[in-house]
Amino acid sequence: MCLQNKLVLKNIKIQGFYAGWLTENTGIDVLRIDELHPVVSGNKYFKLKYYLLDALQTGCHTVATFGGAYSNHIVAAAFACREYGLNSVGIIRGQKPATPSHTLTQAEGYGMQLQFVSRAHFKNRQPLHQSGNGVYFVGEGGYGALGAKGAAEILQCVPDSQYYTHIVCALGTGTMFAGLVNGSSPHQTVIGISVLKNNFSIADEVKLLINNNNSHGQYNIVHGNHFGGYAKHPPNLIGFMNELWTAHMLPTDIVYTSKAFYALRQMVIEKLIDAGSRVLFVHSGGLQGNASLPAGVLSY
Ligand SMILES: *Cc1c(COP(=O)(O)O)cnc(C)c1O
Repeated sequence: MCLQNKLVLKNIKIQGFYAGWLTENTGIDVLRIDELHPVVSGNKYFKLKYYLLDALQTGCHTVATFGGAYSNHIVAAAFACREYGLNSVGIIRGQKPATPSHTLTQAEGYGMQLQFVSRAHFKNRQPLHQSGNGVYFVGEGGYGALGAKGAAEILQCVPDSQYYTHIVCALGTGTMFAGLVNGSSPHQTVIGISVLKNNFSIADEVKLLINNNNSHGQYNIVHGNHFGGYAKHPPNLIGFMNELWTAHMLPTDIVYTSKAFYALRQMVIEKLIDAGSRVLFVHSGGLQGNASLPAGVLSY
């Protein structure tokens, strides 16, 4: 049921991963949901799906959502709304830039109407936005129960998800992670790598989205792999990304998946993941974000 939706999505693949540091029968497979769709890349479509269906079912004509000038969520929402026949409004943090980002240009191209609000307003006003008058509000980054419900379907893309003992993903708002936990089974452990610096309140935010029963697996949020902070990409991270590409043909993005994969490697090397484990790494997309790097920095 993975591809049951209104968007035309390419088939996903599971990429086997072999490296010298993978000792003692530990195996990693990479779920390439980054390849689902060129625009609504990776996890964003899954997170949006039930919000958009809810908007249609409640008779709304417009979806409004929030994000920064480089938000993958904003572009994905613009595109997905157009596909669902909904108008879209993007409420963007900060002043309108003299030269709009690639992200914003793309979102406008998909018909999104952009509204710029000051950072202070962005922070204070957001909770006041209640859906009504035909306008349906989706929280920043798609955080919320319906987002997690959609993300739980990511595992339905895997022919035999029960095979895996560990599921590993990057964590921004934690919505995808919560969905993966809800979709997991008791014998599995879901590990989320936070890419924000010292964002310890994420544990509570995630907990609000996790089903209150024992039918899911264990879960664990790992901090300290932010490489200086959200979207920071020092040379050692870039080096790691180029190494993953050259040795394994695995493209990662500077914000989420490179940091998550780096953390996974550390956990395997430090034996924090038991030998013999079968790990599913969710490649959640975001590759379009690498376009903000100068040409030639990445070898792909
Ligand atoms: C948005 C995004 C995430 C974070 O998802 P959350 O549900 O907010 O935790 C992870 N990876 C990529 C590539 C993303 O674009």
